[in-house]
Amino acid sequence: MKVFKFGGASVKDAPAIRNLKEILLKFKEDRLVVVISAMGKTTNFLEKVLDSYRNCPENIGNLLAELKNQHVATTKQLFISPERCLHSISELFSQLEDQLNQPISDNYDYDYDRIVSFGELLSTTIISHFLNSEGVKTEWVDARRIVRTDNTYREGHIDWNTTEKLVQTKFQDFQNTDNKVFLTQGFIAGTAENQTTTLGREGSDFSAAILAYSLDAESVTVWKDVPGVLNADPKRFPDAVKLDTLTYYETVELAYYGASVIHPKTLRPLHQKNIPLYVKSFFDPMLSGTKITNKAEDSKLPSIIVKDNQLLLSISPRDFSIVGVDSLSEILAILSQYRVKINMIQNSALTFTVCIDNIPLKLKPCMETLKEKYSVKYNDNVELFTIRHYDEESEKNILKGREVYIRQNSRHTLQVAVAK
Ligand code: ASP
Ligand code: MG
Repeated sequence: MKVFKFGGASVKDAPAIRNLKEILLKFKEDRLVVVISAMGKTTNFLEKVLDSYRNCPENIGNLLAELKNQHVATTKQLFISPERCLHSISELFSQLEDQLNQPISDNYDYDYDRIVSFGELLSTTIISHFLNSEGVKTEWVDARRIVRTDNTYREGHIDWNTTEKLVQTKFQDFQNTDNKVFLTQGFIAGTAENQTTTLGREGSDFSAAILAYSLDAESVTVWKDVPGVLNADPKRFPDAVKLDTLTYYETVELAYYGASVIHPKTLRPLHQKNIPLYVKSFFDPMLSGTKITNKAEDSKLPSIIVKDNQLLLSISPRDFSIVGVDSLSEILAILSQYRVKINMIQNSALTFTVCIDNIPLKLKPCMETLKEKYSVKYNDNVELFTIRHYDEESEKNILKGREVYIRQNSRHTLQVAVAK
């Protein structure tokens, strides 16, 4: 049994969904577990809906109408008789409206999950109707009932034992039917109390790995709009080349520094069960793509990862004392409390500096807490370059005379924070 994951771009409109069906038809002999993201940029759009819900409810009506129109338009292009699918879409929209009629919670993350999760419910509902109407027998499975997390909203921690049992039981039932495709949502999950959670942005890759782990799958394939894992973003570096094979180890390193290949959490469950991961092009499904396994020849080509919109935060004790382990652990505890993700760290006698994603909403309260005891300075408009397997030429190429704030290297990895 194989697990396939289709991201937002691969289901963004009717032609993309037809293409997905063509890909599934190439694997007629296999039972497939198919994990799907929200269509196109729906998750971003639902974040806007959430924002209106919490800050300017008068906009919700228009936003919902736009969201519904997009899904209805796609549906109408997919079916000759779209009525049943349209009915399911309307049902989901009334559930979403019910959620938006609930009082706002003190916990933003709780509201986020119960609202933003609708993107995946919508996409999988449409695709399930479509596949069935085209004769590809599909069972729609609610991921909230089989992927079990705690109640850390927006970043649910997986309860592996329960999830494994729930997934296996559901899959056994599925095997007793004549359905070919076990279709479920990426990104979303549920708690023991039936509350909806999510696994973090771009978390659908991780969902695919959770299912593969629970079912001891033969492989996972992530279908993307690129031919495989590339050594740089081709939009920015036209000379980017595909890496044919990678180890889990090298892939986690690339993902960790921000390569948008794969969600970094995806690799651990696959590594534990030694399940190969393929990254392939949904435009050219027969091409080999990238194969990620335990034992592979890692390319020594420099791989370049760029993180835009960074902030350098410099934190110093107010009393001219040295940044020792005590203040370090205090500072890190505050950063962790606000779930700030650190992309680079540098320390000197009097200053502790971190390079972090510049998300003002999240950083403001964090900086306020830090300022109670520390002096805090920052530089925004920073870009962070990471080069795995760097050499002189690749470094010269990316820096091109730009102002360097911090440069740090180990044997294999170079990180440079530069002014934008
Ligand atoms: N739809 C979610 C997102 O855009 C999850 C995913 O695509 O993996 O973040
Ligand atoms: Mg996505």
